[in-house]
Amino acid sequence: MAQEKSVLPMTTLRIFGIADDSIVDGPGIRFAVFTQGCTHGCVGCHNPGAQTFGGGREATLEELERQIEANPLLAGITLTGGEPFEQAAPLRELAHWARARGLTVWAYSGYTFEELVSGTPSAEARELLTLVDVLVDGPYEAAQASHALTWRGSANQRIIDVPASLAAGEAVQVDRGVDRGTGLFVNPMCQSDVSTVTSP
Ligand code: SF4
Repeated sequence: MAQEKSVLPMTTLRIFGIADDSIVDGPGIRFAVFTQGCTHGCVGCHNPGAQTFGGGREATLEELERQIEANPLLAGITLTGGEPFEQAAPLRELAHWARARGLTVWAYSGYTFEELVSGTPSAEARELLTLVDVLVDGPYEAAQASHALTWRGSANQRIIDVPASLAAGEAVQVDRGVDRGTGLFVNPMCQSDVSTVTSP
């Protein structure tokens, strides 16, 4: 059944929950925001309670930013869900705020990189994408699920270097190139060469 979306002020979003010191939603210690509401309806969804747009609770950006600032050990934030790109307007503000403080931004989406680039589900979603360092894209597909995968649930999902992909005009995957401890990309051509995740 189609999930009904609601309209909230730009500074407020609807969340399923948060993990303030996650070590499983990207490299390093991360503040993970699980947004509420998703239209993908994946069979075997890991967070079925996050699918309804009316569920969860409202959270202000100020509340989330205060919690993020309280942890100096964070490597970054991770936007997940639910479908974070359905609430792109407030998350665009949060991503911009986080990047200004040197935090990396990861995002998980049931949409593919190509869909988001083309403006699906919204222009705001595409703008949010430009503020993301790494995107784990595509719906969860139970037939391709494996516990052996790093940072993704099923093999169809890709771990994408968003700035490099936007520059190249196509998805650039970085599956082998992210150091778990530092969150830095390791150049697979030269293992001694590391560089930070950079803005587009
Ligand atoms: S995209 Fe994620 S939250 Fe949405 S239905 Fe699929 S697994 Fe569940």
